[in-house]
Amino acid sequence: MGESSNIENIAFNFSDEMLDEIQKNIQSIIEGFDVPDDNKTDVIRKINFMYTQTRHLSVTDGLTGLYNRRHFEVNLEREFMRAKRYKNNLSIAMIDVDFFKKVNDTYGHACGDYVLKEIAFLINEAFRKTDMVFRYGGEEFVVILTETDSENAVIPLERLRKSVEANKFKYNNQYLNITISIGVSSNLQNTDSPWEFFDFADRALYDAKKNGRNQVRVYK
Ligand code: GH3
Ligand code: MG
Ligand code: MG
Repeated sequence: MGESSNIENIAFNFSDEMLDEIQKNIQSIIEGFDVPDDNKTDVIRKINFMYTQTRHLSVTDGLTGLYNRRHFEVNLEREFMRAKRYKNNLSIAMIDVDFFKKVNDTYGHACGDYVLKEIAFLINEAFRKTDMVFRYGGEEFVVILTETDSENAVIPLERLRKSVEANKFKYNNQYLNITISIGVSSNLQNTDSPWEFFDFADRALYDAKKNGRNQVRVYK
């Protein structure tokens, strides 16, 4: 891997505004330092550090620290193609907090944010290092479980569901009961599109909601 392919990767994850911002920062560093030739390595090291930091910010979600939706999209396509090509198992789980609007409406937005951070922590704890966890949107999270079929996906997902149900969410001296619903997509044979594969998880989630929430459902 040469340096240019790294830079392409970085640029791919950045919005135009972010790239402009980086450009400005680099300029001010170079202007601020009177750079003699033998200091160039140091300056380049600093610039690289800044790139790495900015890159990290571009793929993570500010509230929970989990990977963000854009990063999910890149990984969904890659893992789908990889699983198809090598005939590996793959599962995707869509996780949605039950009646989350009520938490915000009853206890306020700050309490909602606290619940999301706590759930992100529990999700992070529930999966293997090789699985990838993302915050997809407001109160929705996605997990990509590589080399995992539906039976083996349901095991950690059930464990997570129970751990959220049992967790003591405490905000301003009040205990809250929080549950999550989960939809799983595992059948790669059904489709050639990563987005359709993902949509199956969403449909299973819809079934979980319709059937009473606080449950894991696999798309058949
Ligand atoms: P369901 O069980 O059907 O999922 O009900 P729900 O209330 O969770 O679903 P709905 O989609 O109606 O509401 C999601 C709510 O999530 C809407 C909004 O108030 C809240 N929300 C979205 N993003 C954030 C956020 O970043 N912070 C906070 N505190 N709340 C958020
Ligand atoms: Mg939702
Ligand atoms: Mg919800």
